[in-house]
Amino acid sequence: MRPTVVISAFLMMVSPAFAQNYPSRPITLLVPFAAGGATDTVARVTAQSMSKLLGQPIVIENALGAGGTIAATRASRAEPDGYTLLIHHIGISTAATLYRNLPYDTKTAFAPIGLITNAPMTIIGRPDLPPNSLSELVSYIKTNGDKMTFGNAGLGAASHLCGMLFMTAVNKQILPIPYKGNAPVMTDLIAKQIDLTCDQTTNTTQPIAAKLVKSYAITTRTRLTSMPDLPTADEAGLKGFEVGAWHGIYAPKGTPDAIVQKLSRTLQDALKEPDLIKRFNDINTEPVAQDQATPQALQTMLNNEVDRWAPIIKAAGQFAD
Ligand code: ASP
Repeated sequence: MRPTVVISAFLMMVSPAFAQNYPSRPITLLVPFAAGGATDTVARVTAQSMSKLLGQPIVIENALGAGGTIAATRASRAEPDGYTLLIHHIGISTAATLYRNLPYDTKTAFAPIGLITNAPMTIIGRPDLPPNSLSELVSYIKTNGDKMTFGNAGLGAASHLCGMLFMTAVNKQILPIPYKGNAPVMTDLIAKQIDLTCDQTTNTTQPIAAKLVKSYAITTRTRLTSMPDLPTADEAGLKGFEVGAWHGIYAPKGTPDAIVQKLSRTLQDALKEPDLIKRFNDINTEPVAQDQATPQALQTMLNNEVDRWAPIIKAAGQFAD
């Protein structure tokens, strides 16, 4: 660490005035995927409510690539002053095993702020894909899987993880096509350039409602009341198939505790705002309970999920350097 960085970090820690006046200028929120996609939407809705409460703009910066690890790397190296934050989802925990040479230690590189939402995922196909149900899709894949493609938002994205679990469940590899976010995946799926993807409701609710894509299953334990006709993957034949894209906000490790606590309280208040709740409901997700929007809850989730996915990813044998 450069001496100036050490000194300024020290001054921030000893200066209560610094934390009291926080934030006195705009905050940057790094989003690891493309604008207009699943995580970007959650980020923009959350940032809007938090920035109103904090009295400062939260500027979204889409820092794309490498399944979200580029944004996470930047956040881990940012000045720990509360002015650079990261939103990330389940992919931050799977990347810990998928990427062999990450420049940060996932469990210790961040000062977690809190969980935001656990977005359901949907298995969807191009609008003219012949199967009309998940069981028909599974039979179709058995015969045609070698010629099919599965779009994802990069190795380590939630869509990649869901695709990997899906291929294991149907016991057939389908060619993965990586993008830098689900927004371009959706564009190509609607344009019939790829066959399948698994994506969060925060990105798929509208295309499903408009019948721009074929929807096969939801990855939650029970059906969503807002999509009553969409079966769960489990009930449609993929026993035990369940995955959700939990999202959290992180600051760099070393961020003063007073700032972490202020951001966490602000997140909790933002998640209670009627406007945010409505906008989340419109994309078929909901805010976490207040006790989950805390540093402890997010750190626990992160630690548990890194440990939970490591053996599954090692068994699948897909790694990146
Ligand atoms: N979060 C998405 C995924 O992991 C990517 C995106 O938001 O664009 O698949």
